[in-house]
Amino acid sequence: MRVLIDEEQVGQGVRRMAQFITAQHGDRPLTVLGVMTGSVVLLADLILLLEMPLRVGVIQASSYRGGTQRGELTIHDELMPTITGCDVLVLDDIFDTGHTLAAIVRRLEMLGAASIRTAVLLRKEGTQVVAMEPDFAAFDIPDEFVVGYGLDYQDAYRNLPYIAVLESDDLHHAK
Ligand code: 5GP
Ligand code: MG
Repeated sequence: MRVLIDEEQVGQGVRRMAQFITAQHGDRPLTVLGVMTGSVVLLADLILLLEMPLRVGVIQASSYRGGTQRGELTIHDELMPTITGCDVLVLDDIFDTGHTLAAIVRRLEMLGAASIRTAVLLRKEGTQVVAMEPDFAAFDIPDEFVVGYGLDYQDAYRNLPYIAVLESDDLHHAK
């Protein structure tokens, strides 16, 4: 395991995100939707830094791994509050190909959100295949597999307080 972004840097990134959102959105009501499960730590830390009237919800996207169709996603919005007419901020851990966030934004548009903005902690460089970009990305990182601060490998490592690159040695330690 190699630390890529240490705990203090992660905290700085989350504070920059909160400042950006506050500057863009002001003190109007906001619905923050965390993309489960990777954004759970970010969601908890970020909302403590926001002062506008706030609702919190979650949404999930699952991909058919092993399928041949890349980017085919199912969006689960059963646990999400009603967002029709609301200003929504979608929060995710990492922007990689971009399929997840693009599909979620399409769903929220269909449901009639008044406005939709997106923020991610991490954005991988050179892996995007969709036209959209997140409105805010705290860190641009190289195309390596990272864990920690919510990001998992086979459900492990989400509780690391920093972002680390998983190396081949680590693989058999998971679970
Ligand atoms: P996208 O749809 O943008 O390709 O992928 C976004 C999702 O893929 C993220 O929400 C995350 O669950 C997963 N993902 C992409 N890259 C990584 C990575 O380096 N580490 C981990 N743990 N998950 C990743
Ligand atoms: Mg995810």
